[in-house]
Amino acid sequence: MPTEAAVVGNSTIVTTNPATGEVLAELACSRAAEVQNAVLRAKAAQPAWQASSVGDRVALLRRFQKILSERRDQLAMLICREAGKPVVEALTTEILVILDAAEFCARHAHKFLREQPLPHGNPVMKMKRGKLVREPYGVIGIIAPWNYPFSIPAVETLSALVTGNAVVLKPSEFTPLIALELSKLLLDAGLHPDLMQVVIGEGPTGAALVDSPIDKLIFTGSVATGKRVAEAAARRLLPVVLELGGKDPMLVLEDADLDIASSGAVWGALMNAGQTCLSVERCYVHRSLYEPFLETCRRKIGKLRVGNGIDSEVEVGPLVSERQLRIVEDQVNDAVARGARLLAGGRRLSDLGPSFYAPTLLADVTHDMTLMREETFGPVLPVAPFDSDDEAIRLANDSDFGLAASVWTCNRRRGEAIAAQVHAGTVMVNDVISCFGIAEAPHGGFKLSGIGRTHGEMGMDEMVQVKHLEVDLLPGIPKPWWFGYGQKLRQQMDGFIDLLFARSWATKLKGGLRSAGLLRRSNRI
Ligand code: NAD
Repeated sequence: MPTEAAVVGNSTIVTTNPATGEVLAELACSRAAEVQNAVLRAKAAQPAWQASSVGDRVALLRRFQKILSERRDQLAMLICREAGKPVVEALTTEILVILDAAEFCARHAHKFLREQPLPHGNPVMKMKRGKLVREPYGVIGIIAPWNYPFSIPAVETLSALVTGNAVVLKPSEFTPLIALELSKLLLDAGLHPDLMQVVIGEGPTGAALVDSPIDKLIFTGSVATGKRVAEAAARRLLPVVLELGGKDPMLVLEDADLDIASSGAVWGALMNAGQTCLSVERCYVHRSLYEPFLETCRRKIGKLRVGNGIDSEVEVGPLVSERQLRIVEDQVNDAVARGARLLAGGRRLSDLGPSFYAPTLLADVTHDMTLMREETFGPVLPVAPFDSDDEAIRLANDSDFGLAASVWTCNRRRGEAIAAQVHAGTVMVNDVISCFGIAEAPHGGFKLSGIGRTHGEMGMDEMVQVKHLEVDLLPGIPKPWWFGYGQKLRQQMDGFIDLLFARSWATKLKGGLRSAGLLRRSNRI
């Protein structure tokens, strides 16, 4: 029985339930020509969508929101079966996040897309009126991962659609059914089918989308694939947003609330079985709290219910695939071999299903362990001590990644001061991961964690090109800087520069006199 998505004869993928190995569907892969055709259909349909009123597009989002809310139970079950996550997390981190993202887009689209006047400071330019107009790119290609198989492509799709773009989505080969459901929700809300299409397949289908005539690409996935995608996109200067991996640090200062911080660490490291780009992947605790913190985490991890997430009581589900499980296993084994203390877990739970790994707590980890340098993406909480704020900041920043981070302290100002020194796209004080659920907040990383932002207004910004429109209010007057150069124009310009920028009033005045006649030149060509 297959335990993960597999290519069959390179023409189909089989999607399975990671908790049970049950085959959910076998789907045909979209070949390059089909991807190309999907993009061409989207290109043909997009201008009418762009020409529709923002009100019409917002109304579509509102209908989508209503249908999503009505069908949330069925969708949560599908997310649970195909991605393996607990049904509660399907509701909180996938469906709720998207209902709120739809709300944000619907509320902000009018203001965001309104033409913006561009006042001119230079007096010569005051004879013109400028404005900024935000225009959709056209067709946005979206390549998505499996770990948030609904919320990641959905938030990007909603931002793209409300700003007037069409979308072609290539979901992960592990979670195609969820992406097809997203498209169905939008179609049922009244969207033209060519404006949101899903192409199915593995890497080659994604590569075909990058090579197709899309106008921009939003890629979410690993650093390795992100680099390949960026290289292919660069060959034709295709603009890209890259949302890549993370190795998020959590800093627990000596004045942190032990009970709250330990619950935050356990949830932050283990929710979605640790398969979250914003997971706590490195936890540093002040030495004065170190042993009590470890003991509290060990106790709390011992209470977690691991199993098939379809059961509402389950808190930690399976990993998505055998491959992912092996990465986690290798990193934990390597850390233990190099001296890490294993306080909980550290083994497969084969009796539960094909890809379960016990929630794991490791102490005394160091930066020479792969576990502390590369993304783990599994249910592991690695903890190390520190002695000073400076050391904590140095450890947090000693990483190639910079997606998010958290600082835990009862002193908010101190937390903010430390947050300011951590190199990451988001730093939270006294919470983790929930930044993803703040519809207004931009999501994206520093360093290898990516380029660009999704979510919120900055996410909408990525979906539009800014056009500067400039209209001359005195079209009958020739411009003073046009041809017909000479000594006189040089002196007039010199005087004009003094008029505008000289510090003393006397020089300004003299400059004004020298520049007289600039607008009425006789030697113009
Ligand atoms: P992945 O890089 O293996 O795959 C991502 C997507 O790219 C999939 O749809 C895959 O089919 C496609 N793909 C593979 N090869 C391709 C190619 N050559 N050209 C175009 N597309 C190709 O990542 P994954 O395992 O699906 O997801 C996990 C990774 O995603 C982790 O590293 C995680 O941190 C990252 N992630 C980042 C964010 C973020 O917002 N920064 C969010 C979620 C996940």
